[in-house]
Amino acid sequence: MSDLSVSEYVSHQDELEQEAKELMPWDPKTCTYEMGPLRQPVFACRTHKYIGLCYSCSIQCHTKCDIVELFTKRHFTCDCGTERDNQEPGERGFRCQIRQNREPDVPSFTNTYGQNFRGLFCECKKEYDPDSNDTMIQCVLGAECNEDWYHESCIGKNFPPLESFDAYICWKCVKKYDYYFKRILSHALSEKIIAHTLIHGIQEDKTEDPKPSSGMKRTADEVDSQPNNNEYSIFLKEGFSENLGKLKDSIEGNNDKLYLFLNDLVPFLIRDEPVYEPVENSEDTPDDMISNILRNAMHREQAIAGISAFNALKNKLNEFLKPFAETGNVVKEEDIKDFFQRPEGTSK
Ligand SMILES: [Zn+2]
Ligand SMILES: [Zn+2]
Ligand SMILES: [Zn+2]
Ligand SMILES: [Zn+2]
Ligand SMILES: [Zn+2]
Repeated sequence: MSDLSVSEYVSHQDELEQEAKELMPWDPKTCTYEMGPLRQPVFACRTHKYIGLCYSCSIQCHTKCDIVELFTKRHFTCDCGTERDNQEPGERGFRCQIRQNREPDVPSFTNTYGQNFRGLFCECKKEYDPDSNDTMIQCVLGAECNEDWYHESCIGKNFPPLESFDAYICWKCVKKYDYYFKRILSHALSEKIIAHTLIHGIQEDKTEDPKPSSGMKRTADEVDSQPNNNEYSIFLKEGFSENLGKLKDSIEGNNDKLYLFLNDLVPFLIRDEPVYEPVENSEDTPDDMISNILRNAMHREQAIAGISAFNALKNKLNEFLKPFAETGNVVKEEDIKDFFQRPEGTSK
């Protein structure tokens, strides 16, 4: 067994490089602000007024901030260096280090800031706990919940097996569009669209304190006519998009409300909107890559459980590489082999 420096090791080990690319697959050089609203990976900065940042800005501009990874959000515009960002200008006087604007840019007026931007997730409003085994899933509709993430256990009893459905719509979003979902559920094609419905959670006692206002207005009528036991989530079947498309096409008359709902409000359920991907990381030198991983790892302490295996690996790799990167010491080949032989996703 020979000892290698970190850079020697990396240059000889495709495997490590692959892992590094998975941890930080993109080159953080492009801010998406100028591209306007996009479906993209979003990061919230809890140090600077909870604004949402694009991938590159989370790494380049808010380096020392408390960042929460939110995964993808639709229709989001980066708020780094806009009037929403109260970060002091950097050394060179730039607001966003990538766009190099000296005056704050005009923020998008379409960004929606839900609780995730404060680092809170699910109905239980908790921070992400990387040690929890309670899987979290994201609401694919997002109209009411801002594409929130939910714990299995908070969604309801008898949560179906993950492999039995393809996408999830939370009870809040179902309730918002109750009329349309009732029609979809009673349609002949619903068997091919809906895998399960699940009543939300434990029935709440009416004497409990009302939930703190989240800024969402509810009319008295809505509250009265929609008792809690009518709240249910929908789990969509694999192939739901195609069949929702068929359902839409089967509707006669383009003024039908369901047609308009599917066509105008939730077209992404029929035709999945691609996620913007920053430029791939391909030219990094191994040393850069390692420092990037380390820097990035610090940004991602609060990632979401859908990728808990990824997270565990990241933490392990980070722990493993840190002393070497700091001191420039050699890495023993056996250590690295041992590292990669551990099964992915196990934490110990
Ligand atoms: Zn940006
Ligand atoms: Zn910040
Ligand atoms: Zn920036
Ligand atoms: Zn929860
Ligand atoms: Zn939702």
